[in-house]
Amino acid sequence: MNENTDNAAGASAAGNQMVFCRACGRQIHVSATSCPGCGARQLAAGESERLILPAFVLCFFLGYMGAHRYYAGKIGTGLLMLFTAGGLGIWWLIDLIMILAGSFRDIDGKTLKRWT
Ligand SMILES: [Zn+2]
Repeated sequence: MNENTDNAAGASAAGNQMVFCRACGRQIHVSATSCPGCGARQLAAGESERLILPAFVLCFFLGYMGAHRYYAGKIGTGLLMLFTAGGLGIWWLIDLIMILAGSFRDIDGKTLKRWT
């Protein structure tokens, strides 16, 4: 009884500060780094669910074709990269550094921060 009342009050006070766990769907606070229910790690605000490792591997081997940009959902600039051979290698190098530095962004403007 008391617990239900507290939850209701907490939810309305928090407003849109609540999000759903990506693993179990439980409602958790937006600032929670892991789900109290199942322990699954949660994404920080502005953090992409896409990972650095596949982006890096794709960029390293197929970067001149823009493969890492297709992975990040950036089809348009990926194609542009394909037709310019990775901006003659310069664009490719910049993207590679951005990915390594953890500042590469996906199509939603979210940053790729996790390696695996
Ligand atoms: Zn969970």
